[in-house]
Amino acid sequence: MDVRTSYDALFIDGDWRASQGGGTTDVINPATGSAFGTVPQGTVADMEAAIAAARRAFDEGPWPRMDQRERTALLLRFAAVLESWKDVVGPVVMQESGALQTLIDGTHFGLGLARFRYAAETALRSFDVGTSLGVGYGDVLGGSAVVREPIGVVGAITPFNFPTYLNLAKLGPALAVGNTVVLKPSPLTPLEGLVLGAVAAEAGLPEGVLNIVTGGADVGELLVADRRVDMISFTGSDATGARVMAGAAPSLKRVVLELGGKSALIVREDADVQAAAAAAFGSFTLHAGQGCVLLTRHLVHRSVAEEFVDALRAKAAATVVGDPADPATTMGPLISAAQHRRVCGYLDIAREEGGRFATGGAALDGPGFFVPPTVVEGLGEHARLAQEEIFGPVATVIPFADDEEAVRMGNNSDFGLSGGIFSRNTGAAWRMARRLRTAVVRINGGGTAPDLEAPTAGWKRSGVGTEHGLSGLHEFTLEKSIAFRVG
Ligand code: NAD
Repeated sequence: MDVRTSYDALFIDGDWRASQGGGTTDVINPATGSAFGTVPQGTVADMEAAIAAARRAFDEGPWPRMDQRERTALLLRFAAVLESWKDVVGPVVMQESGALQTLIDGTHFGLGLARFRYAAETALRSFDVGTSLGVGYGDVLGGSAVVREPIGVVGAITPFNFPTYLNLAKLGPALAVGNTVVLKPSPLTPLEGLVLGAVAAEAGLPEGVLNIVTGGADVGELLVADRRVDMISFTGSDATGARVMAGAAPSLKRVVLELGGKSALIVREDADVQAAAAAAFGSFTLHAGQGCVLLTRHLVHRSVAEEFVDALRAKAAATVVGDPADPATTMGPLISAAQHRRVCGYLDIAREEGGRFATGGAALDGPGFFVPPTVVEGLGEHARLAQEEIFGPVATVIPFADDEEAVRMGNNSDFGLSGGIFSRNTGAAWRMARRLRTAVVRINGGGTAPDLEAPTAGWKRSGVGTEHGLSGLHEFTLEKSIAFRVG
């Protein structure tokens, strides 16, 4: 089992290769603020080599031409190897990303491996040749065979918040349909990327099929711009997503972008307010608020707003903020000193904008990067706290008068990633859900057990293209119609 907290090489062309720049980067445990590992600092020269390897593996190697059953079997072996290493990889995930054990079990390994296996298995049944009979062509008998084929070389770029989960959710569908991949993980969470190289080697993936290069924006920019790369699957902020789209434009490659959010939870006056508050709190404090789909704008009918805020306050008082290595901890740290400064900056903005803290509002002492659950009241829907993605455990509660106002406020966002409604009138909740301009709406806490078939596609500034489900798998393919004439 080749799992480490320090690597001295990158995974390129099926082998471990020293970085051509020779530099190293410390990996910081956000709960302690101290380095616990090192990785090579990937350079554009390393990225060049990885792209060349992925290109060669696609153009000349066995992977895209392999029988689907064999490819699926190799990917299921990859999943089995990673799962069998869980007890050793799990602590690395905890130290690197600050995830609680519950998230490691449920999201990183549970959902990550489920999505990976879903893609590998679905590829077995979704690539049958479709046929269409040519009609409207006079006397000629003919038709078309419609096939799906891999796009080619896929560049996968991932953020820091759920690295293992997001890496698996991208690699599964990209590889399942026969693409080769260059993965560039976040510079804040490189270990969770590199360990997948060891898994690929153990599982026996052919050389060049999966390449992993650490590094920052310069390394990512080369991957995005390079003409040998056919598609970029990117997850990260909307600002970087816009740069990726622009960087991909000259080569006209396909992009799938899964970006940020500022999702609204609407609590109607007939809601089970305690259940709504429990869901709201669980959401905006999940992984210390570092999640794209979290419900951070709480729009609450004014008749129940006080009860709702009281319930949030009680839950905040019961929260144990600390190192995830301590089993008593219920909420961990922010990823970095920079992210901690950014979130604290928003607490200052809340004060300047006239907000009141129902709970929280001040950073906790280090050495780790901690902010307590924070609920802000007294701000309007246009306030920066109600519009910008903070990526920390900070929620804004805004009262509304009726459904019309709730829907209007819900849609008053540049983003459209997620959303929620609590109401005992499920018909009214359904009608409201249809009016919300967002990709996902969870009614009365639905979606806690994710449906692997359900696609996710960020609306507005939350994304371009689709992830998950069959349509997410199809994003990594191209359709080809082969027309034939019989007579
Ligand atoms: P980020 O945009 O700063 O970085 C994401 C990745 O892009 C990193 O690997 C980074 O090194 C790389 N990168 C940076 N500049 C680049 C460039 N010019 N060209 C190519 N690559 C570049 O995001 P982050 O701070 O790591 O993550 C937080 C963001 O991710 C939040 O906005 C969050 O909402 C979003 N996110 C979205 C989803 C989703 O599914 N929609 C899931 C998780 C996180």
